[in-house]
Amino acid sequence: MNRAQDRLIPALLDWFAENARDLPWRRDREPYHVWLSEIMLQQTRVEAVKPYYARFLERLPDIPSLAECDEELLLKLWEGLGYYSRVRNLQKGAEQIMARFGGVFPHTYAEIRSISGIGDYTAGAVGSICFDLPEPAVDGNVLRVLTRLSADSRCTDEPAVRKSIRDALRTGYEQTPAGTRGTLTQALMELGATVCVPNGAPHCDACPLQEDCAAHRSGSEMQYPVRKQKKARRIEEYTVYILQCGDRFAVRKRPDKGLLAGLWELPHLDGHTEAQAALIAAERWQTGAEEIVSVRRRTHIFTHIEWHMTCVHLLVSKMPEHFTWVTAEQLRAETALPTAFRICLPEQNDDSEKEG
Ligand code: SF4
Repeated sequence: MNRAQDRLIPALLDWFAENARDLPWRRDREPYHVWLSEIMLQQTRVEAVKPYYARFLERLPDIPSLAECDEELLLKLWEGLGYYSRVRNLQKGAEQIMARFGGVFPHTYAEIRSISGIGDYTAGAVGSICFDLPEPAVDGNVLRVLTRLSADSRCTDEPAVRKSIRDALRTGYEQTPAGTRGTLTQALMELGATVCVPNGAPHCDACPLQEDCAAHRSGSEMQYPVRKQKKARRIEEYTVYILQCGDRFAVRKRPDKGLLAGLWELPHLDGHTEAQAALIAAERWQTGAEEIVSVRRRTHIFTHIEWHMTCVHLLVSKMPEHFTWVTAEQLRAETALPTAFRICLPEQNDDSEKEG
């Protein structure tokens, strides 16, 4: 961006002043709010984040309340957003801010970057937006804009390439007048999200940088950014059981490590099982299987894995203690059951969801 930045940055700032969306986390520059929104927005769409953001802040309005929050509530507030290590790191970060900075969000880049779960991107976002630091925040949206502007054909999956792009952009930030660096960060993100879009052709006619965009001039917008070919997702097959005894359902805690660590799950077995065989297989849990109510297929997509699930809703007569038995209301309001299992429940109709 540094070649024509004398023109580009003012054009971008003017465009943002006219076109910025009104998003809840843009209504102030409180570091806790910006930090939370940036973590929630990683891998998740803006519209999906809005209700989570409001609900989270209602229950945990500040850093001390986040630091002290009970794990069950924390996971429940994040339920359905996926990538649960984000919220665990968020809490760890809040604990560090309490212990090391007396509960006040630090305001130098090195200190911000030293907090758990805060990488270069989030440190740049919080640092520039909240403290006007000349530090860029380069995520996928920003990389797309920058590589198209300069028709940069280096592979952006290479850390050294991303670093070199960030360093070049930092020069632009250093020359940007104090007081406008946070707006520059938001403007770049906004352009990448709404004009130079991630899926499909960019809306170059609406772009304030059109005249200086090398990819647009050569009609090669879709060739950038250059990425490595993605590996195909691994497919895993499961038979998931909705074991219902009266008005209660069986759940159990997942292990503390690995995928969906520490969340609740529905009992399940490896592999696809036909209905009658599923009835027999369920007997290993000694629940007194009585009747199959329904058998449905569900698919859930993680970043690198796809779960293909046969979901068997089974009425049972016993509630052995190796499961926790919860009512439908507890399952809805209190139990942090990830989307992968929630879509197996009888009232759910979606047949494919994405979560990490
Ligand atoms: S002109 Fe088109 S390709 Fe270039 S930055 Fe703007 S939207 Fe993206």
